[in-house]
Amino acid sequence: MSAASDLEFLRKIQRLLSEGEFVATYKFALLQALADLSVETVSSSGNSMRIALTDIAEKFIEYYWRQAIPYAPELDQVGVLKQNTGKQAAVINSIIKARNQFFGSIQLARQNAASWKKLVAKVVGTIKDQPLWKLQLVGKEIDEFIYRQDKLEDGCIELFPGVSSVFRSFHGLISNLVQGAWLGQIRRVRGNRILLGERGDLVEFLFGSERRNLDAYRMVMRDYQRAICFYCGKQVLGEGNADHFIPWSRYPIDLGHNFVFAHPSCNGFKSDLLAHTDHLARWRECNLEAPRELEDAFNFNELAHDVERSRHVALWAYEQGEQSRVHTYLGKGDYPSLDGSWREAMGGLRAVAEAPASYD
Ligand SMILES: [Zn+2]
Repeated sequence: MSAASDLEFLRKIQRLLSEGEFVATYKFALLQALADLSVETVSSSGNSMRIALTDIAEKFIEYYWRQAIPYAPELDQVGVLKQNTGKQAAVINSIIKARNQFFGSIQLARQNAASWKKLVAKVVGTIKDQPLWKLQLVGKEIDEFIYRQDKLEDGCIELFPGVSSVFRSFHGLISNLVQGAWLGQIRRVRGNRILLGERGDLVEFLFGSERRNLDAYRMVMRDYQRAICFYCGKQVLGEGNADHFIPWSRYPIDLGHNFVFAHPSCNGFKSDLLAHTDHLARWRECNLEAPRELEDAFNFNELAHDVERSRHVALWAYEQGEQSRVHTYLGKGDYPSLDGSWREAMGGLRAVAEAPASYD
């Protein structure tokens, strides 16, 4: 797509979020899922892209899983935020059931293949019924600019050529737009007003990281790295931190392989920067190509992990970073800008998408 058509696409997304009729929050989830899957499942900005409804449904379950916790815990189920202007959204009810059945652990729920499949199928049904044909509806008019609504083959939709590439280029921007609109909808639902009260942590609650898990990841990575800091190579004497290797601010992903164990100070110096290519090469070796031991540890502790998604997110983040020539974190006070050498660090050209023809 050209700059002009990128802009036109973003304008349409904006219009859809501000003028589309939203009863449930499903449309936000659908848009977010399409953006996330464009990053997590392809390694280059290809042409048209097929996305399975089951993959979209799994993203729905992920997003709503945390949102189905009571916002006001003292009220139990009544304290769950409404994701719909009428009665509670069906997907939330199914997820609450699954949460209860699996003690709140999405990992445990996934491990029970039969019931997970049932849950996914149910969510697919809802997606087909509602957001799939409503997403591109503004007023009474359908403007198909993301995918063809009547074309559903082998349970997949097909994004128009260039769409996944705009989702990849503007992932942060689009996520912010979607989350802002989602937040607004939750606030507008009458039944939520009393729950929301004066608390100011709604954004963190809806879209933040689960702190409980961070601690569990920290323990696993600490063991795995024998208490050695990933960045400076020295022993960590205190508790240490679990650092999101691809920074949370760039892409909010809480998946096992994306974590490294580090000094709180090293973690602080790195802050929201991408790590330098030297670190990237080590991360690939130690985490992406980790021995089975690491995956077993994640499973044992019921922690989410998906090595391919982590790899794709890293490829995407460095591709984006190279285009805007970001500074990377090598060590304290040492922030070289990112060049093409990251491709080598990720395993050479064959493993990585070819560089786009031009960056100008
Ligand atoms: Zn350190």
